[in-house]
Amino acid sequence: MPRSIYIHTLGCKANQYDAEQLAEILRRAGFGVCGADAVPDAVIVQTCAVTGEAERKCRQAVRRFRHRFPEAAIIVTGCMANLSPEAVKECLPEADFVIPKTETAHLPELITKVTKNAPEAEDKTARLPLQNMQQNIRHKSKAYLKIQDGCDRFCAYCIIPYARGAPASKPAEEIRRELEAAAAQGFRHVQLVGINLAAYGSDFADGTTLADAVRLCEQAAPFFPQSYSVSFGSLEPDLLTEELLAGIASPLLLPQFHISLQSGSDTVLRRMGRRYTAAEYAEVIHRVRRHFPAAVITTDVIVGFPGETEAEFKDTVRFVQKMGFGKVHAFPFSPREGTPAAAMPNQVPQEEKKKRVAALLV
Ligand code: SF4
Repeated sequence: MPRSIYIHTLGCKANQYDAEQLAEILRRAGFGVCGADAVPDAVIVQTCAVTGEAERKCRQAVRRFRHRFPEAAIIVTGCMANLSPEAVKECLPEADFVIPKTETAHLPELITKVTKNAPEAEDKTARLPLQNMQQNIRHKSKAYLKIQDGCDRFCAYCIIPYARGAPASKPAEEIRRELEAAAAQGFRHVQLVGINLAAYGSDFADGTTLADAVRLCEQAAPFFPQSYSVSFGSLEPDLLTEELLAGIASPLLLPQFHISLQSGSDTVLRRMGRRYTAAEYAEVIHRVRRHFPAAVITTDVIVGFPGETEAEFKDTVRFVQKMGFGKVHAFPFSPREGTPAAAMPNQVPQEEKKKRVAALLV
């Protein structure tokens, strides 16, 4: 009997993609990757550290699995483990192992050592890399293809730059292979995702941009059925220049854009360390609509950032009403220890944040 591993993933699409990669490493080593309804030999919790609330949910999940599967090895990986494995070990004695991303390649050895059943001998039939990639990127009906990781913007509320490090873009050759694998797997839609997706290529220093990733998608079109389409994960507004928008135009691209706003108040945006004013954000949205007249634009807003006054909040409400978003995701500010915002004065009471979220979504 091969050992069976359940991978529980919290957080963003980049995390989901990382979990798929982990699953592939384990499959190649002869393990079975099972669903939540099986009784696994090991549970891997792919954690998210984006907010204090996200971390709380991760801790809760680890405790729940410890209770539900007392015999299984519980392994914590993902952003919480990257940030501070020591802190995770301390606050989660229920976890047997805490493994940062740099060490996940050794997970098969670790699981072999700590679980009872031997895995089946590795499949020696030399699976093609393409087949492996197919499993790697499978995610429901849509293939998420992570082409960028990391961020160096250090917005005041965000832990991601500490957890995921500097921007790193995926080379064209790898993207090509993963697109072909997605096609072979029968996917008809590929969503390109990244932590700071619009910055794709900025670390290559050869002028590569997100437009080049779109060209790769176009070149892969013959491998897909006719209805193949492409979309983007979340985009940072200030990087959406005229040139980039012209470059990403493609018959394959669905005109759906998720462009993070976070606040419609200039003073709050400044305190957040965002790189635009409300007027500049509005200009970006007009620019997107000029290039893509049918664009549906969605956004995120953080409500109750430290020191957010009633007047600043009202600025955000007015701004959101004016922009005609397809959908607004409003989150109450959740302090994340280790970020400047967590230590800022004038934290907004929880009740007030709740009220403001409700008011914004009316
Ligand atoms: S741009 Fe800001 S919010 Fe987005 S990942 Fe980077 S630091 Fe975090």
